Order: sequence, then C-alpha cells, then structure tokens
Amino acid sequence: EPALYIVATPIGNLGDVSRRALEVLSGVSCIAAEDTRRTGQLLSGEGIKTPMLAYHEHSAPQVAEQLAARIAGGESIALVSDAGTPTISDPGYRLVRVMQDAGLKIVPLPGPCAAIVGLSGSGLPSDRFAFEGFLPNRGEARRRRLESLAHADATLIFYEAPHRIVATLEDLQSVMGDDREAAIARELTKSFETIRRAPLRELCDWVRDDANQSRGEIVLLLAPSKDERGAQLDPALGELLLGIAEHM
Ligand code: SAM
Repeated sequence: EPALYIVATPIGNLGDVSRRALEVLSGVSCIAAEDTRRTGQLLSGEGIKTPMLAYHEHSAPQVAEQLAARIAGGESIALVSDAGTPTISDPGYRLVRVMQDAGLKIVPLPGPCAAIVGLSGSGLPSDRFAFEGFLPNRGEARRRRLESLAHADATLIFYEAPHRIVATLEDLQSVMGDDREAAIARELTKSFETIRRAPLRELCDWVRDDANQSRGEIVLLLAPSKDERGAQLDPALGELLLGIAEHM
C-alpha cells in the first residue's frame, strides 16, 4: 500500500540503521531528504540507488503537495532527516499532517533518536520526561525559559550547540541551583561518546575546564525538581490542617 514512511537514520554509528529502514529506503520510489548530500553518503554506503529530492525547513508548501499527489497516485515515499528521527527537532511534521489530511497512509519506523539514547544512558529518572529541544539562543529568553521550567516534575531533555554549552550550563546552575543533578551525553554512538551525570556545579566546572567537553553533538538532561517530586506537606500547614480538623 502506498505510504509516506518516516525513516530514522543513524546519529553517528552507521551500524544503527535498521534492516527495515534499509528495505524501505531501497523499496520506495523516492526519498525526501533534509540534506541530499548527507543522505547520499548513507545510501551509497549501502548500495541503495533510490532517487532523492530535497525536503527541508524552507521547502515551499507545494513540495508537500507534490509528494502527497505522488502517494495518491500509487507511489511510496520515504522521509529522512540529516540524522536520527525525522520530525524530532527536524522538519517533517507538517508533511505528516498534509498526508493525513489527504487521507494518505503514514508509516513511522522506530530508530535512533539522540534524546532517547541520551536519556537511556543518563541515569536520570525516565518514568516522566519532557523533550525541550533547543533552548532560545539569546541569554535573556533562555533564562526566562529555564525559569519557567525550574519546578518541572520530570526529567528535561535539551539539545544544545557546542558553542553554547558552557553558557547554558551556567544559566542552568544559577536558575536550578548548584545541587540539581544533570547529565551531558555527548557524541552518542560515536568514537568520543561521553556520558556524565553530576550535580550542576560539578558538571559546569568540568565542561568549563576541559574544552573537549564542549565539542561535537550534545544532549543535556536535567533531573526533576525535588520540591515537586515526593513533595512533603509543609509542617506548619500540616499543623494548621490538624487544628481545623479538631474543630470540626
Ligand atoms: N532528529 C534528530 C534526532 O532524532 O535525534 C535530532 C536533530 S537536531 C537538528 C540535532 C541535535 O541533536 C544536535 O544539535 C544534538 O544536540 C543532538 N544530537 C544529534 N546527534 C547526536 C549525537 N550523536 N550525540 C549527542 N547529541 C546528538
């Protein structure tokens, strides 16, 4: 059945491409790729000759409509991004909506996603987590966003650019406090893969003192706020409630 396949590709280690992903990429009539050069490397390494076309952030809405028309006409198409899962801090969700609204089939394939790989190796609670993507670039907006997240009762997952990691850690430390645990997951699945979990003060010092720790690709994770998690009743409030109960 014709469909748009959402195909996750490796975030570093090429061995992470799934057998099903390769089958789909070789079977479809066309691959819509965020960067055809980068995807071309993956395809040529696997001996796949499926034609590509560019689909990225700045693609005109007509590109999505053309793709929908091709699927409606009986073809299957795969969507891939530069790395990892399309639509996750990557283009694609609008394309998915266009297809759905046209009554066409979407088939998402499981595969690498830096946020999930980082979370699974971080040692931070994963029963509740929130993906925050990239923080705002500008200092002021970034701090405001962090302040709004200070009491989140879930592990927070951020993507961060290497040249901003120190500034972001410093902001995190000043908004969340020295002792809040966090983790850096850097260069996941690649040769210099590094994962470290520590209180913010320690993590911040470590990254500031070792320039290697702000190189490459980074997922930053923040432990849930303790005052929300297992929140205890304020003792004074407890006494007040007891007092009220006694008078009832
Ligand atoms: N769609 C991708 C995914 O599923 O992970 C994410 C795309 S987003 C534009 C790119 C960001 O993901 C990078 O700036 C970095 O924060 C994170 N990232 C991607 N690959 C990574 C890796 N191998 N190790 C750590 N972080 C990575």
